[in-house]
Amino acid sequence: MVPKKRIAVLGLALESNSFAPVCTRADFESLTYAEGAAMLDLSYVNAQIGRDGKGFGAVMSAYTDWEVVPILFGAAGASGPCHHDFFAYVCAQIKTRLQAAGPLDGVYIIGHGAGITTELDDMDGPYFALVRDVVGPDVPVIVTLDLHANVSEQMVEATDILISFQTNPHLDMVARSADAARLMIEMFEGMKPVSSFIRLPLVTAQVSQLTGAGRPYGDLVLRGQAALDDTIACVSILSGFAFADSRHNGLSVIVTARENQHAADVTATRLAQEGWADRHRYAVDLVTIDEAVALAKMKQTPIILADVADNPGGGGRGNTTELLRALHSAKLTDIQIGIVYDPALVEDAWEAGEGHGFTARFTRDDPQEWSKPFTAQAKVVKLIDEPYTSTRGLSNGQKLYYGRSCLLEVGGISIAIISIRQQIFGADALEFFGLTPAQARCIVVKSRGHFRAGFMHMIAEENIFHVDVPGLATPNLHSVDWKGLPRPVFPLDAETRWP
Ligand SMILES: [Zn+2]
Repeated sequence: MVPKKRIAVLGLALESNSFAPVCTRADFESLTYAEGAAMLDLSYVNAQIGRDGKGFGAVMSAYTDWEVVPILFGAAGASGPCHHDFFAYVCAQIKTRLQAAGPLDGVYIIGHGAGITTELDDMDGPYFALVRDVVGPDVPVIVTLDLHANVSEQMVEATDILISFQTNPHLDMVARSADAARLMIEMFEGMKPVSSFIRLPLVTAQVSQLTGAGRPYGDLVLRGQAALDDTIACVSILSGFAFADSRHNGLSVIVTARENQHAADVTATRLAQEGWADRHRYAVDLVTIDEAVALAKMKQTPIILADVADNPGGGGRGNTTELLRALHSAKLTDIQIGIVYDPALVEDAWEAGEGHGFTARFTRDDPQEWSKPFTAQAKVVKLIDEPYTSTRGLSNGQKLYYGRSCLLEVGGISIAIISIRQQIFGADALEFFGLTPAQARCIVVKSRGHFRAGFMHMIAEENIFHVDVPGLATPNLHSVDWKGLPRPVFPLDAETRWP
């Protein structure tokens, strides 16, 4: 009989765009944040560690009786650097709560890996190291990471195993948390993991990092999984998140072997070489705003115009107006735009009331460079202030809340507007606002790529277009005033050599 295990669970998940406004405690609290036992009520956590879930909890429960020791969990999606005072507070909480937890058999960190703070260009390494300091060298510390993580040496050194997602859109979070449990069980049984870590000077645009065979990043992830055997326990290949703009940017390969450092090194080197050889394939395919309007005019079936540069999931504000302005001046109808972040406009709509017309002033009080105002006559079609349970894509099964929200009609354009900033994950979000996406001529999404999983039942890949609009998450990496990236780096510096 395997003795009962006590496993601490914690995490602070943030993808930091260093050019976006600072991420505060309020930003975490508006999305996902809880301390101690309250974190077990978070659907994000519960999906991975709940005993009825399919992830970590299910695998661990099949192995032995175990106790979750909830420490703290926060996830703010993508935003700016974490306010350092809040980060320091979180670290103090993690330390105190871990110390008070008593003897632990393991720690599972539900991380992200692309966080920075207002003072540090790596948020994750320091809190992983803090965890290690408290629990000591002999307690397994295993982390799941987003594949957009920028891996630091400290993140690798402070932990036993880093496990990254393998799909983009990220549909394998729960499967990877199950991997975390399986590997932790191996460690309980005596397995000693050793890892090899290589970071390439390769920083690519998010739109070029989709997975699946035939794409450069997808091919590399598949080669990594093909390397798993009795010796190689885990392969993580992380495409990284450019806009963190830190020393730790660059596609990373982490290979964890069972006690065999040489095998880990050889496999990591081979994968890194293969990834580097493929660097010219990370192409960015964009259409101009004029081309986007022409496509919307021409197509008979619904198309998606992805406003990728304004993706809240990449730190964008979700409120730029260029596409709205262009489609409005083209007098196109049957357009659906969602979801736009504009709390001030939502309040005006609530004041006007359902069924009433008013002068809508979009993006009137956000001082960000790309957030330009746009004014038009609008009708309030619907007012909403309630959560809903998503039924599609990445957020399937999760409870989503947009704060006070509204559906406006501007000419022939329906616009879903929210007051808690987040990206759209699927067609069900538009249906929540009373729209029928299948009947649209064109759907504009404020999302870089995760929307795909929630629209693939109704829109073919060839009818999805990335539009070249300025924004905080632009795929035009050459247009960004980088400050922290290691240079030279490919493709910004074409002559970059490695090793
Ligand atoms: Zn990601």
